[in-house]
Amino acid sequence: MPLPLQLPTLQNWSCHNCGGCCRQHEIEITASERERILAQNWTVADGIPAGSPVIERMGAFPWNRRWRLAHQPDGACVFLDDKGLCRIHAKFGEPAKPLACRVYPFAFHPAGRKIAVGLRFSCPSVVANRGASMSRQQGELKELERLVVPESAREFPPPRLSSKQQLDWPDTLQIVEALDATLATAGEPFVLKMLWSLGAVDLIDQSSFERVRGPRLTDFLSIVTQAVKSELPTLPRQTAPPGAIARQLFRMLVAQYARRDTFRSDQRGIGYRWKLLRAIWSFAAGRGELTPLQEGFQAVPFEALETSFGPIPAESEEVLTRYVRVKLQSLHFCGRAYYDVPLVEGFASLGLAVVCACYLARWLARGAGRDVWTADDFARAVTVVDHHHGYSPALGMGAFRQRQRLLWKQKEVTRLLAHYAN
Ligand code: SF4
Repeated sequence: MPLPLQLPTLQNWSCHNCGGCCRQHEIEITASERERILAQNWTVADGIPAGSPVIERMGAFPWNRRWRLAHQPDGACVFLDDKGLCRIHAKFGEPAKPLACRVYPFAFHPAGRKIAVGLRFSCPSVVANRGASMSRQQGELKELERLVVPESAREFPPPRLSSKQQLDWPDTLQIVEALDATLATAGEPFVLKMLWSLGAVDLIDQSSFERVRGPRLTDFLSIVTQAVKSELPTLPRQTAPPGAIARQLFRMLVAQYARRDTFRSDQRGIGYRWKLLRAIWSFAAGRGELTPLQEGFQAVPFEALETSFGPIPAESEEVLTRYVRVKLQSLHFCGRAYYDVPLVEGFASLGLAVVCACYLARWLARGAGRDVWTADDFARAVTVVDHHHGYSPALGMGAFRQRQRLLWKQKEVTRLLAHYAN
C-alpha cells in the first residue's frame, strides 16, 4: 500500500520541452534499462550520430558495471533530437525511457507516514514556477511513487537532528514546519527570513531535547522563532564581514557548484582535469580572474564580485523563498535526500547553497558588464546550484562536508549571506 503524498503546494510545474535536463545531466541506467535500450536497435537512420554508442560505461575502469546514456559532442544526451525532443519517447512512448528521465524533476523522500514530493530547481520551468499545480498532477505522481519508492520506505528513520541528537518523526517534522513558517513570513525580505531561520537552527543546535518533546517542543520552537525575530527586527545596515579563511573556504565551495559535470567532448581527458585543478586553486587563492567552468560565465576579477550589487530583485526574492521552502517541505536538504547529513548541517548547507547562488548571480552580472544583478541572473544561478545540491558526489565527500561544518561552527554562514546577498 503506497504512502500518502505530501505535495509542495506553492510550486507549479509542467515540462516546456526546453531539453535542458537532457543537456545537463548524466543519466545512469540500470542493467534492465541497458538491455531494453540495446534491444531497441538504435542506428544512424534514427538520428543517432554516426559511430556513437548509445550507452557508455561509467568511470575509467573496464570492470565497472555501472552504465549511463552516451552524450553527443556538445554534451547533450545521445537521444536528444535537434528539436529538443527525446527519440526514445517519440519512437516507443514515455514508459520506454529510463526511470531517471521519467521522474525528473520530481524527487520523493520519506517523511514518516508520508512521502514528501520535491522538485529540482535545475529545471528552468521549476524556477519560473511555470505549469500545472502539483495537486492537478496527483495521478502521475502516484504512478511515479509506485515506481521509485520502496515498500520499506515506511520504516525509514528520520534524519538525525545533529551529530549528537535524534528525534522521532513527528518532532523532526515540527522543526521543519517551524522553519518553513519562518520563511513564509509575509512582507519581509528573503535575507532577513534566512537570517532568522539560521539563527533558530543555531539555537536548536545548542539545545538538548531529551525532555523537550511533543507539546514542549512546540512551545520551545515558538519561543525560539519569536526570539530570533525580536533580536533582529530588520535587516542590519552593517554586518561583520566574513573572515579571510571563510571567504577562501566559501570560494572553494563555489568552484564545485560552478562547474559543469556532464562532459562534452572537449571536457574529457587529462587536459580538462588539469584545467579544473588549476581553476580550483585559483578559487582557493581568490587572486586574478575567476575561471569559467561552464557556458554563460566569463572571466572576471575576483575583486569585482566583492562590491554590493543592490537589493535582490522582487521576482528573485520570490524564487529564493520558494526554493528554500520547497527544499524544506520535501525534506530535500538532509538525511537520505542529502548525503545522510543531520538536519542542522543540512539547513546550514542549504543556506550556503543560497549564498553560492548569490555569488553566481554576481558573476553572471559582471560577466555581462553590469554592476547590478537581474532576475535572469538569479534564475540561472539557482539552476546551476541546484543541479549539484544533493546530487553531485563531490558535495558529499569528506573535504567538502568538513568545509561546510567549519563555516557553520565559526558562525560564518550568516556573515557570508549578509555579505553576498546584497
Ligand atoms: S533519454 Fe530522452 S529524456 Fe532521457 S536524457 Fe536522453 S533525450 Fe532526455
